[in-house]
Amino acid sequence: MNDFLKQAEELFPYTQSLRRDFHMHPELGFREVRTGGIVARELEALGIEVTKGVGKTGVVGLIEGAKPGPTLLLRFDMDALPITEDTGAEYTSLNNGVMHACGHDGHTAIGLTVARMLHSQRDELAGNIKLCFQPSEEGLNGEEMGGNLMMMRDGVLDGPKVDKTLSLHLWNDKPLGWINVAKGPVMAGAELFIIKLTGKGGHGAAPETTIDPIVAAAQIITALQTIASRNVAPLKSSVISVTSIHSGTTFNVIPQTAELTGTIRTFDPAVRKVVLERFEQIVRGIAETMGCRVELEIKRVTPPVINNDEVSESVLKTARSLFPQIEVETEPYITMGAEDMGFMQEKVDGCYFMVGSANDEKNLNYNHHHPKFDFDEQALISGAALMASAAVDLLKT
Ligand SMILES: [Zn+2]
Ligand SMILES: [Zn+2]
Repeated sequence: MNDFLKQAEELFPYTQSLRRDFHMHPELGFREVRTGGIVARELEALGIEVTKGVGKTGVVGLIEGAKPGPTLLLRFDMDALPITEDTGAEYTSLNNGVMHACGHDGHTAIGLTVARMLHSQRDELAGNIKLCFQPSEEGLNGEEMGGNLMMMRDGVLDGPKVDKTLSLHLWNDKPLGWINVAKGPVMAGAELFIIKLTGKGGHGAAPETTIDPIVAAAQIITALQTIASRNVAPLKSSVISVTSIHSGTTFNVIPQTAELTGTIRTFDPAVRKVVLERFEQIVRGIAETMGCRVELEIKRVTPPVINNDEVSESVLKTARSLFPQIEVETEPYITMGAEDMGFMQEKVDGCYFMVGSANDEKNLNYNHHHPKFDFDEQALISGAALMASAAVDLLKT
């Protein structure tokens, strides 16, 4: 058996130095030029065939096994977030206002470590490994689609045709040593919405001459919360969050317009349908009642991530033999977070697993997307070892 855990431990200085370098030089979605350049350089140095510019800034490496077999795609996301870092770490971001606050620096470093380990085993591999370094997981960033869809549009699933996928996320809501490999849904589907209300502006002291879009917006915000509490069954899940309100300029003027944006999260297609129908009824109904004109845009960001039973079973077996001392969690650890790997897993059977990365003693336990987010780098070892082992085992099934 391949001892990927031992190898990942030996490679840890390499993994850690890459991770810290990516952390100091974070890049937003579709701008991962430096990051992608390092990925390509490292893969090429190993002699791995590299294709650049797949999905704008995405990079793909292909390891062809000596024997024929299926093609597995391993996906690692590379993008950072528009957040100003406040960790005080020695490897803190040098790119002001941009931060790796989700752990994708770790994912990219894990990917390059996995590439090393699997490339060294290529003579024994029966099948191919496609290493997929994906841009812009966190959003569309001005493009018409995110990184996962854009890579599929550029043919990442073809030549050779991908049979199965594996992907992971370091997970800071759980401690180092926690691993979750689940079947079925693991991440919610997400939509974004934009509500534009137009009323009639006027003097703040003469509301009777105006149509106040702020009052309409306030009622819409409150009423939207009744969808989860009154329209969706108590044991089903959904989230509606209004995350921005823009209206008005000064204290004595009732503004002409108000704009609300936010997100909707659901797992179940039937729940999604009800939520979207009620959402539109409430927004249009209240706007009309209050005399406002409304423009409503609802856009699907990602479908839910659904893990395939057989692929997950294989990964679970690998995780149990790799970490005999850990009780691998198999209950779906369902989060309302969104993840664009859902698009790829709609097309190809896959497993998306999670690796705990928090450490309370070291204060490395802030949530993803928090300005103080940082994780215990020991998780890079577990992540790389599990990904490489799971890939080799899956090629055998
Ligand atoms: Zn994130
Ligand atoms: Zn993430």
